[in-house]
Amino acid sequence: MAMLRLDIVTPDKVVLSADVEYVSAPGAEGEFGVLPGHAPLLSALSVGELYYRADNKTYWAFIAGGFAEVSDDKVTILAESAELASEIDVDRARQAKERAEARIRDYKPDSGIDLVRAQSALTRAINRISVVGR
Ligand code: ATP
Repeated sequence: MAMLRLDIVTPDKVVLSADVEYVSAPGAEGEFGVLPGHAPLLSALSVGELYYRADNKTYWAFIAGGFAEVSDDKVTILAESAELASEIDVDRARQAKERAEARIRDYKPDSGIDLVRAQSALTRAINRISVVGR
């Protein structure tokens, strides 16, 4: 069976390097799927969930933005941060979610709260919790 090489890399580490059958990634303009033989592609990524198929199983990962490149049956994900489902600390993500929700709730124009930052943190936390639940 034709395979894809999937590499997920962050500034800190190589999160995954594996031969897979299919990849679905959260593109900035919507989710996109890649099978072997896909045309070359460069896409910005949003914060969200990536999944891939290997050995007739589906595996999930969290991706916090970055870029995807597809070329010659290689999918390279360069993410600002990324974790496999098994690496996510769900309690930490729940605490991050509560912190962000409290900041959003307490926001007033003079509060010193960075609303955009709190909303981004909330989106990351919600997506991490979602990946753990897959
Ligand atoms: P927190 O407020 O909990 O730090 P965050 O969304 O601000 O969350 P990031 O800036 O996205 O965190 O990531 C910082 C580093 O911590 C990255 O290496 C990321 O992989 C890791 N990380 C963040 N949250 C988790 C988590 N819940 N489980 C495992 N690793 C995490």
